[in-house]
Amino acid sequence: MRWLAMLAATAAAAASTPLDAAATPPTGFHRVRALEPAATYVARKPVRAWCTKTYLGWDAYMHRVMGDSPVPNGLATAGADDLYLAPLECDNLLFATRTASVAAILPALAGPIETLTHEAIHLRGEADEAVTDCAAMRTMGAVAVRYFHVTRGAELKKLMTAAWAYHRSGRAVYTTIC
Ligand SMILES: [Zn+2]
Repeated sequence: MRWLAMLAATAAAAASTPLDAAATPPTGFHRVRALEPAATYVARKPVRAWCTKTYLGWDAYMHRVMGDSPVPNGLATAGADDLYLAPLECDNLLFATRTASVAAILPALAGPIETLTHEAIHLRGEADEAVTDCAAMRTMGAVAVRYFHVTRGAELKKLMTAAWAYHRSGRAVYTTIC
């Protein structure tokens, strides 16, 4: 799921101009610029988005940085400039940026949009998981409409119903506030 980062905040000084390709991604990751406008909107500063093509690469990296913790769907260090998304989240979000209508895939988009929003909120500097996930629930509707072709009204309602179910299925650390 959305996560986290108990990684030490090694965030180098945040650049104030759009971030460029200078960053070196972890092995197996590629930059996904199509998701950066949404992430930047939520983070309130320019940020980069990274994905792996396969779960082999994702799981390997997650185990390296998180040890035996459950493998999350996303990762970001509080205050940093980069967020990382698992393949399914990445693929579903990318599909939503390219298609005219997401009506048929709303339930499959709820988790990925929530995850992207959650990780981008960490990039604002928020480290607390419950605070972050609540903020993600409050913010993701606007993100869905603005960047992922979800229309207001019935579509947004359906998306948020699925998102709340996703949120509530999360571990306690995410759900203690809302
Ligand atoms: Zn988190």
